[in-house]
Amino acid sequence: MEHFEVLHKDKETAARAGVLKTPRGLVHTTVFMPVATQGTVKAVSQRDISELGAECLLSNTYHLYLRPGLETLEKFGGLNGFMNHPGPVLTDSGGFQVYSLSKLRKITDNGVHFSSHIDGSPHFFSPEKVIDFQASIGSSIWTCLDVCVKNPASRADAEDALKKTEAWAKRAKAHFVEKTRHIEPAKRPLLFGIIQGSMYPDLRAEAARHMAELNPDGFAVGGLSVGESKAQMMESLAAVMENLPRNKPVYFMGLGSPEDIWNSVELGVDMFDCVLPTRNARNGQALTSQGKFYIKNAQYKNDQDPLDPDCDCHCCRNYSRGYLSHLYKSKEILASQLMSIHNLRFLINQTKLMRLAVAAGNFKQAKKAFMDVYMTAK
Ligand SMILES: [Zn+2]
Repeated sequence: MEHFEVLHKDKETAARAGVLKTPRGLVHTTVFMPVATQGTVKAVSQRDISELGAECLLSNTYHLYLRPGLETLEKFGGLNGFMNHPGPVLTDSGGFQVYSLSKLRKITDNGVHFSSHIDGSPHFFSPEKVIDFQASIGSSIWTCLDVCVKNPASRADAEDALKKTEAWAKRAKAHFVEKTRHIEPAKRPLLFGIIQGSMYPDLRAEAARHMAELNPDGFAVGGLSVGESKAQMMESLAAVMENLPRNKPVYFMGLGSPEDIWNSVELGVDMFDCVLPTRNARNGQALTSQGKFYIKNAQYKNDQDPLDPDCDCHCCRNYSRGYLSHLYKSKEILASQLMSIHNLRFLINQTKLMRLAVAAGNFKQAKKAFMDVYMTAK
């Protein structure tokens, strides 16, 4: 049984619409996955998540391992039972968090030693242990432990990180196969390999070819959208996409601005996650079909329109910009809750638009129609 099926291909670009079969249900791609780092999409309840139509959530091995801890999750039947979420969850391996949050890291060929950013306690992650951790979390899509470098990285550092990432992916896959051997195919979690290579297109291409050979269930592109220029990001992504087989899902880690998603889908990417919609919501920024804006701006004080007249979310169906503006200025937490719901629904609707456009054979026109309004808005 193939776990990924491409349903429609765009004729002019590499954009496509597909369906990913996971042990906890189908994920229709293009998909935007809300981020639930700590086992919660910030300020959004489980009831709202299901109403948003989010088909997959993203959570994080590093954070869940440190808190609440894997023993607690196992007692609750894994993360799904703990947070009362029935659908698929993809877990990031924690590589990025080990490098960005923890102190006193020491990377060896075997794994990475670090101390917790919460209490300083010492820990060790290896590719095999991170597979075991994700089994305890019970997520539907697992990722291999990778080595991240800060951009800009020297070529020597990028090469060294890549070499380790490749060796670790091989070990992770071998351990994954052994660990999931007894599980019937429909219930088996999926394993995604992470492609690194910093800003060097030839290293990105090599990483993609290597990962293609390893043949995991899907490919995750890591270490981009972390401060480099958009041109560099797209060049690195293009180098990756040219070297990947087209029969597996491709996931761009941590990309969330709608224009970047449209551009990446055009190159053939299927899956996205980002804290952007919820973080921006908490900062009072709305993403809408007419562009993005800050709700605190004076012009919204008496505005009786919804945040986005084209949106069907709980926030837009029930509340006005004027009321949201008041909530935000009064530092009421309801502002964060409602605007998070809207921004997530906006991105989920955008990815649905992309799927429909691919199916209808008019992806380029749909992208242009979106960009013409969104990118020129004040
Ligand atoms: Zn809305």
